Amino acid sequence: MPTLQKIFTLEISPEQFLNSCSPSELKEIDILIQGNFYQQRMNAQVCKICGCTDYDCKQCIEKTGEPCYWFEKNLCSACASSTTTLINHES
Ligand SMILES: [Zn+2]
Ligand SMILES: [Zn+2]
Repeated sequence: MPTLQKIFTLEISPEQFLNSCSPSELKEIDILIQGNFYQQRMNAQVCKICGCTDYDCKQCIEKTGEPCYWFEKNLCSACASSTTTLINHES
């Protein structure tokens, strides 16, 4: 028999996800969240202009062709270079 392969992408909010978890799954999530990995992720820097993080920098790679680094606190190198060009134009 021929088979059809389908890949579904479902977008759900974190709340919807938690609502469909069983009590034991919620306990597991709680333990995971308390762990270092997610604590660090929660406190990770976010670029104040483009919103990229250490975990998601796709838009910077699209824009500059390379992943950004932190230029200063909450400002990534991709946005830092575009703001400096703006300042140079004004003066
Ligand atoms: Zn940025
Ligand atoms: Zn970035």
